Amino acid sequence: MPSKNHFSTLYLSAPDVIELVQRKGVEACLRGIADYIQSDFLRWGSFDKSARVASHSRDGVIELMPIADDQTYAFKYVNGHPKNTRWGLPTVMAFGVLADVATGAPLLLSELTLITALRTAAMSAVAARALARPGARTMALIGNGAQSEFQALAFHHLLGVTTLRLFDTDPAATAKLQANLQGTGLRTVVCTSTAEAVRGADIVTTVTADKTNATILTPGMLVPGMHINAVGGDCPGKTELHADVLRQAQVFVEYTPQTRIEGDIQQLPADFVVTELWEVLAGQHTGRASDAAVTVFDSVGFALEDFSALRFLRDAATELGMGQPIELIPQLSDPKNLFGLLRTHNPLLRAVA
Ligand code: NAD
Repeated sequence: MPSKNHFSTLYLSAPDVIELVQRKGVEACLRGIADYIQSDFLRWGSFDKSARVASHSRDGVIELMPIADDQTYAFKYVNGHPKNTRWGLPTVMAFGVLADVATGAPLLLSELTLITALRTAAMSAVAARALARPGARTMALIGNGAQSEFQALAFHHLLGVTTLRLFDTDPAATAKLQANLQGTGLRTVVCTSTAEAVRGADIVTTVTADKTNATILTPGMLVPGMHINAVGGDCPGKTELHADVLRQAQVFVEYTPQTRIEGDIQQLPADFVVTELWEVLAGQHTGRASDAAVTVFDSVGFALEDFSALRFLRDAATELGMGQPIELIPQLSDPKNLFGLLRTHNPLLRAVA
């Protein structure tokens, strides 16, 4: 809890977070965020949960993602605008806050664009650790944009994936991904179609951005034992999987009420059976039914993952002595005398007084 009459909010700017991730290392951050996500998902019942609040417009969406336990409240502001890269802006941009539930005081204000990519990849890896066949070493990565390196590295470090089969409709995105992954130990194979990329893959990650009901994966591409990490379908009217892919698979989700609206399962009736991932992590539900089953993680991004990522950031910043205390909230010697702030600082008001 902040001390009486005197508290500040820790501010982590984008340059701060870049430096923090560089100092700790991408692998350590992915592992750290995955650990925080895993432990928070095991406390599923402790959280006040809701589907995110989305404001849709012609070219994108802006969303607020709140969640709290009895001590800490968090929210993230995030957008999704697939056409943004044409204007030199990322598709996804985000920032977030951690606050003290007892007082409502904001404790941390942080950039979350970079961290969203890390937490999405960490979440994908947590799901795949629970659902993919052990020994999966080859992953098809469809969509090679901003999120893709993070997905690649999370699967490399947390699952032992060694080979990536890459496809993007934009060859420059694939070339960028290949260049960024040089020296990581990952072998990359560039493919000319999704069908070619998924051939021989144990895991398929789809992380494309298009505001449409796309069919990146069709039933003919499925092979027994495949795990599908479907990341890009995360908004009404924006899906990646043919509905029959879902019908032929066991489907796992983060928070069902949100995924029914935003995930690939939006294409299916509301009684289509899905399992929430936390149940599998907690041992309350079996994950993959057999070696031959096809599993799908229908990822949309849930507020709890940002709560975990923000906690990780706050702890890492404290450990490294990073961030800047800011006066986001005015300091008041008499908390009932808000107007008094104006009398002290505003020369016009002082003149009137
Ligand atoms: P991006 O725009 O940087 O990259 C997307 C890539 O997909 C582009 O390179 C584009 O050429 C490619 N693409 C589009 N259609 C394709 C197709 N039919 N086949 C192959 N490639 C295709 O976007 P990003 O930041 O990497 O985000 C990717 C997607 O992930 C977005 O839809 C975003 O909303 C989503 N996302 C989901 C989560 C989550 O938690 N589930 C989190 C962050 C982002």
